[in-house]
Amino acid sequence: MDNLRILESSFEKIRTYIRNNNNSDSIVKFKKPSELNTLIGVQVEEQNVTENEFLDLIDKYLDYSVKTGNKQFLNQLYSGFNFPAFIGEVFSALANTSMYTYEVAPVATVIETEMVRLMNSYAGYKNGDGIFVSGGSNANLIAMFSARNRIIPECRVDGYDTKHKLKAFVNEQAHYSFETAANILGIGAKNVVKVKSDAKGKMIPDELQKEINECIDRGKKPFFVVATCATTLLGAYDPIPQLADICEKHKLWLHADGSFGGSLILSETHRHLMKDIERTDSFAWNPHKLMNIPLICSALLVKKRGTLQHNITDINTDYIYHDIDQIEDLGKKSIQCGRKVDAVKLWFAWKYFGLKGYKQRIDNLINMATYAESIVANHPQLELMSERQSFSVCFRYLPKKGGDLNKFNLELRENLRKSGKSIVNYSYLNKQLTIRLITANGELAKSDIDLFFENLLSEAQNLEAK
Ligand SMILES: *Cc1c(COP(=O)(O)O)cnc(C)c1O
Repeated sequence: MDNLRILESSFEKIRTYIRNNNNSDSIVKFKKPSELNTLIGVQVEEQNVTENEFLDLIDKYLDYSVKTGNKQFLNQLYSGFNFPAFIGEVFSALANTSMYTYEVAPVATVIETEMVRLMNSYAGYKNGDGIFVSGGSNANLIAMFSARNRIIPECRVDGYDTKHKLKAFVNEQAHYSFETAANILGIGAKNVVKVKSDAKGKMIPDELQKEINECIDRGKKPFFVVATCATTLLGAYDPIPQLADICEKHKLWLHADGSFGGSLILSETHRHLMKDIERTDSFAWNPHKLMNIPLICSALLVKKRGTLQHNITDINTDYIYHDIDQIEDLGKKSIQCGRKVDAVKLWFAWKYFGLKGYKQRIDNLINMATYAESIVANHPQLELMSERQSFSVCFRYLPKKGGDLNKFNLELRENLRKSGKSIVNYSYLNKQLTIRLITANGELAKSDIDLFFENLLSEAQNLEAK
C-alpha cells in the first residue's frame, strides 16, 4: 500500500464530508447490526486488505456512521462540526504526545495549564486547579472522590468503610454517573439521595435541607451535594446560591455538574443561571458538548489548589515525575497515566473563534432554543411539555383524532429518525412521552430549526393519514 496515496485520497474524503455537513446529506443510513456486519465486512482476516479495499473501508465507515455534524442532528447533548477543533484533533494525533509529563508533552502541558487557568477565571476560582479528564462522568467521579477524601482523609490509605455512612445528594433528574461514582468509591449507589425538583426541574432547596436533616437524624453523614447545571431532559439549572448556603452551614462539598450546560458560563447574557458558581468546590465542564469540541474534551475544575494531587498521587511519588523543567507535571493530578492532549483541540478552537466568538456561539444556542420554543408555542398541533430553561425544548405532537399520545409520538420520532432527515431524542416526563430538541451546534441558524419542524410535521401528517 502506498501511504501517501491513501493520505491524498483521505484528504479528498474529508473535504467531501465537511462540504456535506449541512442539511443536504442524510443523517443516518439506518441498518440493523447484522446487516452492517456484512455490509462493512467487519471481521479481520488472516490476509490484509488491498489499498483500494482499505480506502473502501473509510468510505463505508463514514457512510454508515451517524452524521453528528449535520444541522439536523438535534438528538444528543453534543453535536456540530467544529473546524479548528477538528484540526487540533488531527494534529494532536499526529504528534501523539502523552499528557503525564512536560518532558514528553511540553507544548500540550503549557496549553492545558493555560486552558485550566482560563476556565477557572470564568468559574471565579481564584486559587483553583483542574485537570482534563475522560468525560463528564469521570469528572463527577473525581469530584465525589475528592469530597470523600476531604471528609474522611484515611480513606486514601485504609479504604472506605461503610461504617462512615456517607450520603450524597443530587437532583432527582441528575445524571446517572453519580450512582456509578458512589458504586465505584465503595459508598454504594443507594446512598445517593435524589432530592425533589420543582415543575421546571430545579432542585428544591427546602427539600435538600429536609433530606439532610433526616440523614443526620438517622446517624448518616452527608458529605456531597450536586448542583446540576442543566439537567439532561429539561435543561434546568439548580439554584447554586441556596444550595451553597446549605452546604456552607453543614460543611458539605458542593459540586457543579456542568457537563451539559457548564459552557453557559461563557455567555454574559445568560451566565446568571450559574450565579455564585465561585462558591462551589468543584465544577465539571465539558467543552465536548456545547463548545462542539470533538469527543473527548472535558475538565474538572476544583476551587482549592493541591486537592487533586494530594488525593491522587501523593501516596506513591511516582518515578516518572521529576518536575525538572520549572512546571508541574500534570500527570500527578490525574487518575490516568497515559492521557490524550484533549486541551489542545480546545485551545485551537478558542484561538480561532476568540473569547468573543465563543460567547456569541453560546448566545446563539440559546437564541435558537428560544426560536424553536416559539414555533412550538405558536403551532396548534404542537404542545410544549415544560417551559424552556436553556438549550432543551420539550414538546409533543397532538394528532387531530387524539388517541394514545405516547404511542403516536414514539412512532413519530422513530419514523423521523429512520427517514434520515432529522433526529431528536425523547424521554418521559410524568409518564408522558416528550420529544426533546437540543440546540448544541453553535452554527445552527433559524432556517435549520424551520427545516426540522417541516420534517417533523410532514412525518406527523403521514402518520395521521395512516
Ligand atoms: C453528559 C452529561 C454527563 C456525562 O458526561 P460524559 O462526558 O458524557 O461522560 C454528566 N452530567 C450531565 C448533566 C450530562 O449532561
